[in-house]
Amino acid sequence: STGVETFEFQAEARQLLQLMVHSIYSNKDIFLRELISNASDALDKLRLEAYTDKDLEVDTADLHIEVEVDRERRTLTVRDNGIGMSRDEVIILIGTIAKSGTAELLQKIRETKDAGGSQELIGQFGVGFYASFMVADKVTLLTRRAGESSATRWESDGGATYVVETVDDAPQGTSVTLHLRPEDQEDQLFDYTAEWKIREIVKRYSDFIAWPIRMTVEKTDDEGKTTSEIQTLNSMKALWARPRDEVKQDEYNEFYRHLSHDWTDPLETIHMRAEGTFEYESLLFIPSRAPYDLFMRNAKRGVQLYVKRVFIMDDCQELMPEYLRFVKGVVDAQDLSLNISREILQQDRHIQLMRRRLVRKVLSTVKDMQANHAERYQTFWQEFGRAVKEGLLGDFDNQNTILEISSFASTHDPEKLTTLAEYVARMKEGQTEIYYMTGESRSMIENSPHMEAFRAKGYEVLLLTDPVDEMWVDAVPNFDGKRFQSIAKGQVDLDTDEEKEQAGAEREQREKDFAELLSWLTGTLGEQVKEVRLSSRLTTSPACIVGDAEDITPTLEKMYRAMGQ
Ligand code: ADP
Ligand code: MG
Repeated sequence: STGVETFEFQAEARQLLQLMVHSIYSNKDIFLRELISNASDALDKLRLEAYTDKDLEVDTADLHIEVEVDRERRTLTVRDNGIGMSRDEVIILIGTIAKSGTAELLQKIRETKDAGGSQELIGQFGVGFYASFMVADKVTLLTRRAGESSATRWESDGGATYVVETVDDAPQGTSVTLHLRPEDQEDQLFDYTAEWKIREIVKRYSDFIAWPIRMTVEKTDDEGKTTSEIQTLNSMKALWARPRDEVKQDEYNEFYRHLSHDWTDPLETIHMRAEGTFEYESLLFIPSRAPYDLFMRNAKRGVQLYVKRVFIMDDCQELMPEYLRFVKGVVDAQDLSLNISREILQQDRHIQLMRRRLVRKVLSTVKDMQANHAERYQTFWQEFGRAVKEGLLGDFDNQNTILEISSFASTHDPEKLTTLAEYVARMKEGQTEIYYMTGESRSMIENSPHMEAFRAKGYEVLLLTDPVDEMWVDAVPNFDGKRFQSIAKGQVDLDTDEEKEQAGAEREQREKDFAELLSWLTGTLGEQVKEVRLSSRLTTSPACIVGDAEDITPTLEKMYRAMGQ
C-alpha cells in the first residue's frame, strides 16, 4: 500500500456535509436508502458493462448487496460486488458535487433554514452518499473497480477533509462502513444496529430493488440454541411488472421517491402495459412540484429505460420529449437488445411508437386532471405549465391537445386563469380572433395603452407573460378556428360596420386637422419610426408605439439579444 493522502472537500460538498452533520433532515433512516440505491446502481452498471465489454473479466453470477452490523463496534456496513470505483473516481465522485445548480440550491437551503423550510429543498436535491454523516461520525469506504487490480480506501469524519489510500487487496465492488454515533439511549427508534430496524427500513424504502439485499441474522430455536442464517430482506419485485390492482399507492410513492429523490408524493401515477408485437411496461409519474433545475440548460429527462428488467440507461431522451422532461419513471421493453445504443434508439421505429403513446398518455392524464381534479390540475399548471407550452413549438401532433390543457391569465378574471375553450365561449358577437398581449408582467400589460380600446369595448384579452409565449403565438395557427391576434401588432379592427362608416367620415376630417402635426412628427422622429398615424385604439393615452404585424415584439427582441442573436 502507498502513503495516505489528505484532500479537501470541494466547497459545495463541504457545505452539504455541514448540513448533514447538523442533521437538518429529520428523517435519518433515509441514509440506508441512499447507500442501497448507490449499491444497486453499481450492480446495474457492472451488469451492463459486462454485456457490452466482452474483455472485462468479472464474475456476474451472484450480484448482490449485503448489510452487516457489528453491535460491539457499533458499525454498519453496506457492501456490493458491483462496478466499484477507481482512485480518481473516488476523488471526483465522492469529494465533489457535480450536479449543476448546487451552489444556488445550497444558498436557498441556507436562506430557508431559519424559516424551517429546508426539508423540502433538501429532498429535491437527493442527498446521496453524504446522508451517511447524519448517523455516523466517521465513514470508511473501500472500493475496487471491475477490471482493476488495486483498490482504494477513503475515510472522513465529515469535516473539511478526507483521506485516500491505495490498497492492494480488496474484493471487487464497494463497501461503505459507518461508524455510528454514540447510542441515543432514550431513542430506540434510532438504533441502526438493531436487526428489526434495518429490516424495517429496507422493506419501506428498498423493497423493489432488483438485487437481493442480504443480512446475516441470528436465530434462537425452541431449545435455546442460536444459529445464524443469511436472509434476503427485499422482495425484489419490479413494481412496474406487477398488476396495477395489486400495488398500493404507498408502494408507488416510495418507488417514485427512489427514482426522483423527491421528498413529496407524486401528483399522478401512470402505470400501463402494452401487449402485442412490441411489448413493454411503463410506470410514469408526474411530480407535484418542479425540480430546481427545470429551466436550467441540460436539465435531465426523468425516464429510465430497462430491457427485460435490466437497467439500460437514465435520462432516456428518445422516450420523452423535452417539454415533458419533468415526467419521471421507468419503461421496460421486452424486445430490445441489451446492447442498444443511443444512436440505434434514435432510429428505432418501435421506440418512436412507444414515445408517441407515452406522450399521449401523459397529456390525456393531464386532461383528465383538468376535467375531474381542478385543484390538482392547478398545481400541475403552476409548476409545469411553462415547460408544457414549449411543446407548442415542436410537437405538432399534439399541438391542439396542449392548447386544450393550457391555462392563461386574462382580463376576464384577475384571480383565475382561463382555458382557451372558456375564452372562446365568452367571445363577443362578431369577434373572430383570440386577442392577446405579451409582456413582462401582468401589470405592465394591463397598463399598456394598447389595452385601452379593448377594455373600453369590453373585449377579453389574454395576458401572456412567460418568455415562451412570445414564441408559440407565432408558431400556432389557431385554436378552434380562431386566430391568435396580438393587440399590440398591426391594425386591430374593433368597430362594427356602422361605427366604421361614422368613424370614416370623422377620421377624414381629423386627418385633415392633424395633417400638419403628423408630418411634423414623422419628420422629427425620422429613422426611429416607420410611420406616424392617427389611432382609434387609444381612449386616454395621447400616443403609443405599435409594432408592424410581422415585427418581433420587444420581449422577443430582448430574448434574442440575450441569446446573442
Ligand atoms: P448520486 O447517486 O445521486 O449520483 P451519491 O452521492 O449517492 O449521488 O453518489 C455519488 C457517486 O458516487 C455516484 O454517482 C457513484 O458514481 C459513486 N458511488 C457511490 N456509491 C457507489 C458504489 N457503491 N459503487 C460505485 N460507485 C458509487
Ligand atoms: Mg446515490
